Amino acid sequence: MKLYTKISIGLVAGAVVGVGVNLAGWEPGIRLIQSMEILGTAFIRAITMIVIPLVVASLIVGVASLGDLRELGRIGGKTVAYYLCTTAVAVSIGVVLSNLIQPGGRIPEESKTALLEAYGGEAQGRIELAQEAPGLGNLFLSLISDNPIQSAAEGDMLPLIIFTILFAAAASVLAEEKKRVLIGFFDAVNHTSMVIINWIMAVAPYAVFALIAAVTARFGFDVLRSLLVYAATVVAGLLLHAFGTYALVVKFLARFRLGEFYRRIREAQILAFSTSSSNATLPVTIKVAENELGASTRVAGFVLPLGATVNMDGTALYQGVAVMFIAQVFGIDLHWTTQLTVVLTATLASVGAAGVPSAGIITLALVLRQANVPETGIALILGVDRILDMLRTAVNVTGDLSATVFIARTEGELEARVEGQLAEEAAG
Ligand code: ASP
Repeated sequence: MKLYTKISIGLVAGAVVGVGVNLAGWEPGIRLIQSMEILGTAFIRAITMIVIPLVVASLIVGVASLGDLRELGRIGGKTVAYYLCTTAVAVSIGVVLSNLIQPGGRIPEESKTALLEAYGGEAQGRIELAQEAPGLGNLFLSLISDNPIQSAAEGDMLPLIIFTILFAAAASVLAEEKKRVLIGFFDAVNHTSMVIINWIMAVAPYAVFALIAAVTARFGFDVLRSLLVYAATVVAGLLLHAFGTYALVVKFLARFRLGEFYRRIREAQILAFSTSSSNATLPVTIKVAENELGASTRVAGFVLPLGATVNMDGTALYQGVAVMFIAQVFGIDLHWTTQLTVVLTATLASVGAAGVPSAGIITLALVLRQANVPETGIALILGVDRILDMLRTAVNVTGDLSATVFIARTEGELEARVEGQLAEEAAG
């Protein structure tokens, strides 16, 4: 049985068990499931453990094996431009859908008060965290690490990535024999990390079972009922982006067969969904890009670590809907120019968000502030955040993988695969 099938069984079984004990209100069952969550958390810690060595090694191999610095500039420029454009499209989908559906217009007054009361305290915690985060204006400074080891220790990915790219770019201009030693070493680190990932992934089906059972056992279905239209708007937007925008890119720009693309990336998607973390999923995303999609380490090793940190289309889309929803509930009419600022700030905020669970809700506070919508409105949507976080993370990872096939294609890779497909299509 393929690993993906086993993980899917773990997911479905976890959901059935979790929802079952939840609806039955069976306390001992809920407690048992919660104590099992430790298995899921251990799994997430284990794959996260390998993220820093893997990111550093794959970036160094990827960047140092580029021919020269101009090549780095070209791939880097393309990747960042692609990421920003697709993210702006994602937020726009969220904002347009919210204008059409008006999810905030359908919340009864008593639900609004109840939600604000129930989640007000928790929301305040997130708002305070956002105040500690560097504002959008300081994003630039936060890109430069004054101590890369500390950035690595704190899991501060973006400055670490920028330092590593700089280091690898410098290595690429060294004399051939020195460069070969460095690339050889990090290539070995890269492969060793992949072996560890394969070992850890062997327990993924059980871990996914535990994670999903724990989330669904605690899930507040009552809250979902009052936020149904809001949640449905986010989900509709995410589906549209995942199967609309990316499908266009994959089919027309990367000329990769659609069905095959979506089938081959399922393992990364399901893991992103179960862990709610692009960072924790990154090792598997890289494995999928190289082994399943046929991208080189040169492209995947550069595009994916960067993507897991800066490219969060699902998060940005959700922020677009959330800002509109909160404004609508509070009866604030957002002028179209303000909505345009939301597109811009949500795009930047998703760059600043870390690829960890719930990061998007913290940077949402920044977007709300920029649009002059009360940040306390976060309390309205916290109740369904976990489940939406799972979905948006799966979209974030899908976005990174669609970028990989696009960039790989423009770099003349995937030729064999694409030609194979065309031959098969002609034959079939
Ligand atoms: N959990 C998301 C991720 O890791 C970030 C977020 O939207 O909260 O990609």
